[in-house]
Amino acid sequence: MALLLIFILLLTSSGCGPTREAAPAAPIGNSVTNSFSGTADNNRFAHKKENVRLQGRVRPTPGSNQPIDVVDENRASTVEAARLHLSASSEDIDANEREPQDKSQMDEASEDIAYILGLDASNSVSLGGCSNGRLIGAVALPKAGPGFIHNPKRPIEARFATVETIQAIIRSAAVVAETFPDAVLVVNDLCLRDGGPIAQHGSHQNGRDVDILFYYLDAKGEPVPSVGVPLDPRGWGWDFKDLKIAQDDQRLQIDLRRTWRFIAALLETSGDLVQRIFIVEHLRSLLLQEAQRVKAPNDIRSRFEEVTCQPSTPHDDHMHVRFFCTADDIQAGCLDDYPIYPRRRSALRQVGIDPVLAKVDRRLRQTAKKRTTSPAEAKRRAGPMHARVKRFLDQRESWLPKPSPGRPFCR
Ligand SMILES: [Zn+2]
Repeated sequence: MALLLIFILLLTSSGCGPTREAAPAAPIGNSVTNSFSGTADNNRFAHKKENVRLQGRVRPTPGSNQPIDVVDENRASTVEAARLHLSASSEDIDANEREPQDKSQMDEASEDIAYILGLDASNSVSLGGCSNGRLIGAVALPKAGPGFIHNPKRPIEARFATVETIQAIIRSAAVVAETFPDAVLVVNDLCLRDGGPIAQHGSHQNGRDVDILFYYLDAKGEPVPSVGVPLDPRGWGWDFKDLKIAQDDQRLQIDLRRTWRFIAALLETSGDLVQRIFIVEHLRSLLLQEAQRVKAPNDIRSRFEEVTCQPSTPHDDHMHVRFFCTADDIQAGCLDDYPIYPRRRSALRQVGIDPVLAKVDRRLRQTAKKRTTSPAEAKRRAGPMHARVKRFLDQRESWLPKPSPGRPFCR
């Protein structure tokens, strides 16, 4: 497993916008894809009556100059629920060690999800920029829900985000699961509970970034659990498993139908808030072909074209979705990243708000870079690998440095 993780680090020198990050994703077993885990706690929401004062931060009421107190029953319970999620699951979970799901766990999970979907976006506040920010009133992505799981191989503490980010993921995954009942979206890192710097990422600091694995098919076209391996210009890749052993390799391809359905659902349900989807150009092209094939509405297709681009590191094994600040988070101090689209600007102007762009800080970028693993370092650590792995890595070099003709890198 260590080898595997190192390999994925090696393959994934991913970046989010201008800041590099590594977002390794480890394969997960079939046994986990539909299982719920976590300690039952029947008093999870007993604290709803409690009031928790949150770090003294006041937020203005949208559309007015009057600040309102942050002591808020809902928000207090959000914070506490998130903490309980965290403490109930801080043990290292191995996919094969998970308990099979039972009814009470499923009830618990759906209770969590209904609760989260009922929250107002104002229960969380995103402050600062995605590479220099923090988060108040964070919500934890449940470990599993209809059509999604949080990757159990990723740090359990990296699954917090703003209310609207978590809701967008839950809603979009549910849409895919309605169409494809066996679909399981695997969600990698989000943000820490209080935001701020997070291991292996330059951004992911204010609850508006999420790494999402593509849906995968095996060589016969059957859905298989997402493993986060890089995909070539035809959308194919390998799960090499043990890098020294050629016999255990599994051929995989992107599941364009499910992956496009998820993206379309995200743009349909939260389109105004989707700022960027960082993705390698050749998968962007394949997804656009899929959009054409299924006759996706023009506005969804053009929105996808607008928000997608390849950063200087490729995102060929996952996509990174970044959300805009909500209008009231901007008033509280949330900073958006470039670009601000014209429709976004005019929507904000209508509520009397000017978007505020986060400044690019070179020193911060350097610090962020130190948190990530360079491809060279990962390669050094990976150790022996068989010929096919080496060939694939050589091939991969060809799509790392340049996007498709005529397309720019994300700035
Ligand atoms: Zn990311």
